Amino acid sequence: MVNYFSLAERVLSGTSATASDARAILSSPNEDLLDLVAAAARLRREHFGKRIKINYLVNLKSGLCPEDCSYCSQRLGSEAEILKYSWLPKEEAKRQADFGLAGGASRVCLVASGRGPSNRDVDRVSGMVEEIKSATPGVEVCACLGFLKEGQAHRLKEAGVDAYNHNLNTAESLYADICSTHTFADRVDTVDKARGAGLSPCSGLLVGVGETNDQIIEAIESLRAVDSDSIPVNFLIPFDGTPLEGTNTLTPQHCVRILCAVRFLCPDRELRIAGGREMHLRSLQSLSLNVANSLFLGDYLTSEGQAAEEDLDMIVDGGFEIVGAESAQQLRDELKAHRAAHQAAFDGEAPGPANGDGASAASTGASSETAPTPVAGGALPCGKPLPAVGHEAGNSGVTIPTIRRRGAGTEISPNA
Ligand code: SF4
Repeated sequence: MVNYFSLAERVLSGTSATASDARAILSSPNEDLLDLVAAAARLRREHFGKRIKINYLVNLKSGLCPEDCSYCSQRLGSEAEILKYSWLPKEEAKRQADFGLAGGASRVCLVASGRGPSNRDVDRVSGMVEEIKSATPGVEVCACLGFLKEGQAHRLKEAGVDAYNHNLNTAESLYADICSTHTFADRVDTVDKARGAGLSPCSGLLVGVGETNDQIIEAIESLRAVDSDSIPVNFLIPFDGTPLEGTNTLTPQHCVRILCAVRFLCPDRELRIAGGREMHLRSLQSLSLNVANSLFLGDYLTSEGQAAEEDLDMIVDGGFEIVGAESAQQLRDELKAHRAAHQAAFDGEAPGPANGDGASAASTGASSETAPTPVAGGALPCGKPLPAVGHEAGNSGVTIPTIRRRGAGTEISPNA
C-alpha cells in the first residue's frame, strides 16, 4: 500500500507529486479511500483551510453551438431537450447573478455557448460585467465564451473580468475522439491568451468520456503546464440525444480518487466539484469536500443540480466556511427561511408564471427582441413536452439529472 501521508508530507515540503504517484492513487483499492482522502485533506487544509468557494453559473446563451463536442448537450446536432435561447439582456444577466450572490457565491461565471465571441459579444458581456460589479463591487466574475481571438482577452480584462474559463477537459491523446471541430491545441491557445492578458485561468477536466487513468494524469499535467488557477472537475452527464448517451463508467470511489490525484498534483489550486457531481459522487460529495475546496451552487448550464439548500447543508455539516460569508450556518438558515417564505407565498397565489422576486422579464428591462422565451404550460419553447424528472441510466441505479428548466432563460426561480 502506498503511504499517502508520506506522500502528502513530501508535497508539503515542496517536492511535487509525480505521474507515478498519481498512477498509484488512481489505481488504489477502495479500502484505501479514507486514508487517501485524509492525506489529500492535509494539502487542502494547508492551502485553503476549511474554506469553500461558491461559484454560480449564469447561462447567458444556451444551445445551438456549431461545435461537435460529443459530451455536450448544446453541441451541433444534439437532440437533448435543453433550453435554447440567445443572449440574455444585461439586466436579466445581473438579476440571475444576484440569485447566486444571495446564495453565498463569491464568483459569478458568465457562460455562453458557441465557438467563440464576436467583438460585439465581448462588448455585450463587458456591459453585463459592469452592471454586476457596480452593484456588488467585491464579486469575482469569470467569463466562459469559447475560443478567444487576438485582443479579446485584454478587452475582457479591461472590462473588469477576473478569470476566464476554458476547460482542457481531457488528454490531448484522446481529444480527437471527443471532438472533430477543434483541437486540444486550440483549447490551450485560448487558456494561454487569457493568462497572457492577466485573467486568472480557470481550466479543468471532464472525466467519464472513455479516458484511461494515464490519460487523466496526462490531462492534469497539461493543466499544470497551462498554469490553471482553478480546476473544475466535471463528471460526464450522458445526456439523451448526444453521442455519449448511456455512457456510465464512473464509480463514486473513483471520482474521489480522481479529485485526490488532482489535489496531489496541483496542491495549491482551487479544485471544484462541478457538473455531474450529484450523479457520480452521489453520497460521497460531502467526503469529497475534504479534497476539493470549491463548488457550483445549484444548477448547471443545461441540467439541474441538487437544491441549493442541500449544497449549503453539506458545507455546514462538514464544518466548512464559505469564502466571503461571515457564517455558513447563518447563510444557510437565511436561505432556507427565504425559500420557505417564497414557497408559502407561491402556494397562496393563483397559478401563473413565477420568478424569484416577482419581477417579470418585461419589468427587468428585457426587450421583446432579446428576451428568452419562457418555459410555460408544461412545454419547452420548441413545443416539446418537458423532459422527465431525472431518470435512471439503464438499470444502473444511477440517476441522470433533470434537464434544466428554471433560472436563466425561463421565468421560473433559479435554484440558488
Ligand atoms: S464548444 Fe462548448 S458549447 Fe459548443 S459543443 Fe463544445 S462544449 Fe458545447
